[in-house]
Amino acid sequence: MDEQRRRRYLEAMGIQVWEPRAGAQPGRKVTASETPRPAAEAPDAEAPVASLSWVELRARVAACTRCTLHQTRTQTVFGVGDPNARLMVIGEAPGADEDRAGEPFVGRAGQLLNAMLEAIGLAREQVYIANIVKCRPPGNRDPHADEAAACQPYLQRQIALLAPEVILAVGRVSAHNLLGTEEAVGRLRGRTHRFDPGDIPLIVTYHPAYLLRRPQDKAKAWQDLQAVYRLLHAESPEAG
Ligand code: SF4
Repeated sequence: MDEQRRRRYLEAMGIQVWEPRAGAQPGRKVTASETPRPAAEAPDAEAPVASLSWVELRARVAACTRCTLHQTRTQTVFGVGDPNARLMVIGEAPGADEDRAGEPFVGRAGQLLNAMLEAIGLAREQVYIANIVKCRPPGNRDPHADEAAACQPYLQRQIALLAPEVILAVGRVSAHNLLGTEEAVGRLRGRTHRFDPGDIPLIVTYHPAYLLRRPQDKAKAWQDLQAVYRLLHAESPEAG
């Protein structure tokens, strides 16, 4: 793995990257005045979200109180996956399992999502998974519009840092927030949308939790995943 790629992995994992001081010699004891410093300066609490690195963004989200969801969360659910991923999966909000685990799409819905991804040859670790909001809405209700708006800069920054080739919007709340529409998922799926900024191809599909309740729609979700596959392999999504 090259150095730049390694650093991006570590940053996305929330691991601080340390820089050796110039002129440091292997095996030589480091004195107090030469203590290694972080590559980046301490995160500036006032810095615009759009300027933050992965590490800074994760820290900003972890401390966030921009909406009332912070009052009831166990922890924030930032996102997980490969910071070099070509595919970004965006769901709606953490549920009870995710709130406990601090990771999106765990539990039965997460297992189904993993299986959907594996069906197009992608391991969970090869994509990046995030949500519209980073804190669990109480009782697993949908996030309110003001909560989604408060959290939007974080997701926007994740998308900008990742620069995915394709976005998969999972479920109604995700599709509505990403596309600025209120059309039903059934009408949004089956075609390629464009996400701005970035003009990124975006496919809408059903949420795995919905598919667990309505397994008869899994065939449609499979069609959506095939469209993602074709986009990633530069084939026409209309073909087949
Ligand atoms: Fe902040 Fe988003 Fe959590 Fe609201 S949902 S407190 S905006 S991180």
